[in-house]
Amino acid sequence: MPAWLVREELAKGNISVEDYVGSVYERIERLEPSINAFITLRSREEVMEEVREAVSRGGKLAGVLVAVKDNIHVKGLRVTCGSKMLEHYVAPYDATVIKRLRESGAVVIGKTNMDEFAMGSTGETSAYGATRNPWELERVPGGSSSGSAAAVAAGMATLALGSDTGGSIRLPASWTGLYGLKPTYGLVSRYGLVSYADSLEQIGPMARDIVDLALLLEVIAGFDPLDATSLRTDARGFAEIAKKGLEEGAGDRQVLLISDFLEHPGVDPEIRGLLELAADKLGSMGVEVSEKRLGDEVVDYALPAYYVIAMAEASSNLARYDGIRYGPKEEPKPWESWNEYYSRIRAKYFGLEVKTRIILGSWMLSAGYRDQYYIRALKVRRLVRDRLLELLRGVDALLLPSAVTMPPRLGEVVDDPEKMYALDLANVLANLSGLPALVAPVARVSGIPVGVQLVSKPLGEKILFLLGGALEAATGMRNLVVPTN
Ligand code: GLN
Repeated sequence: MPAWLVREELAKGNISVEDYVGSVYERIERLEPSINAFITLRSREEVMEEVREAVSRGGKLAGVLVAVKDNIHVKGLRVTCGSKMLEHYVAPYDATVIKRLRESGAVVIGKTNMDEFAMGSTGETSAYGATRNPWELERVPGGSSSGSAAAVAAGMATLALGSDTGGSIRLPASWTGLYGLKPTYGLVSRYGLVSYADSLEQIGPMARDIVDLALLLEVIAGFDPLDATSLRTDARGFAEIAKKGLEEGAGDRQVLLISDFLEHPGVDPEIRGLLELAADKLGSMGVEVSEKRLGDEVVDYALPAYYVIAMAEASSNLARYDGIRYGPKEEPKPWESWNEYYSRIRAKYFGLEVKTRIILGSWMLSAGYRDQYYIRALKVRRLVRDRLLELLRGVDALLLPSAVTMPPRLGEVVDDPEKMYALDLANVLANLSGLPALVAPVARVSGIPVGVQLVSKPLGEKILFLLGGALEAATGMRNLVVPTN
């Protein structure tokens, strides 16, 4: 059941708290051993009690079970970020999004598996083992919000929160049949999100239908004085507009299909087919779809620019994990200098991908290389934003892929950084530019429901929900949950 219906049925007493919570835990017992979506799972009894209380208090998501990515602070639970470095770190406070979830009556069921410090595209850099794609266990679900996507697609939670620095909500959503949204930079507070590359990332919702996605965004979005990059803006009415799209379509709206991706060698033919199908479906709902090119300079340089900026910021943000401020505190050896202690802890508790990025990031910021890499990447970032805004001037949204290939098999790309980074080709555009981006499932390809992406203007979330509603109505892709037998 979608969250909006769970809330309604629980409130009316048509389904009991025991039945709802029980059915979710039953799925967890059956499926979690083969999927590995959770790093921390709360006990059924504790969660049941909280759901009961929430239903009696009421609220927009009263009683609904939400899985939360393990880089978001939930007071009293561990925040491992998928790393050994934070294995025993317990959140001393709630992130703003969690505070707002609680106010809405939603209940956190557990913390989900993820690529270490959100660095990865497949879920395989986690120190807690890879998460598997519930639709095909030999394949990855996509990352870095791998556990959040797998949990919702497997019915082990009704909704989930992820974070998206360079596609980490959208890539796993598009490989598991979910709706996912990377909000406009500044719409959702990052207070309590463990930073990886803070100028690029946002927390966002993941759900099995567009109305649920909108409801969850409504709950978590809005100005927060605790985040200096938070926007003072109205963040209501998303669910209403998603329903409007579902019921009435999105007539008179204009969408540009970004045609570079129809020819790009990095985009698989299946994905090209999905893009064309999505264009047709939108067309059938009254949307006017035309084509335009983004240009090679944007498509070719966005990805390297993203990785330069992300690694540079990561090298600075991850400096705090030194075994003194954060991380395991070990007894220093009597002869050990500060630098030796610091190096020993970091070498021991960080994984390979994280270490690689810290080293590359520090190097790219060092004197001599800063202008050659970091400053140049910032210029490309500006170019990307300007070009996207130029294309968006005359239309409501851009249609492009999210995932550019089908999900790889476990082990297929994780040891080859170039292949892994190439999966983010289309997703990084929205992060570099701060623009909002929605992923919606379009069709099944070899049994796996796969999505495409719509990008709109700054704070254009409403238009994305309108178009997303129309697309859901046209595709009928909703409530996709793996069967348990
Ligand atoms: N795959 C990208 C990276 O590794 C994006 C990850 C993310 O969005 N957190 O940086």
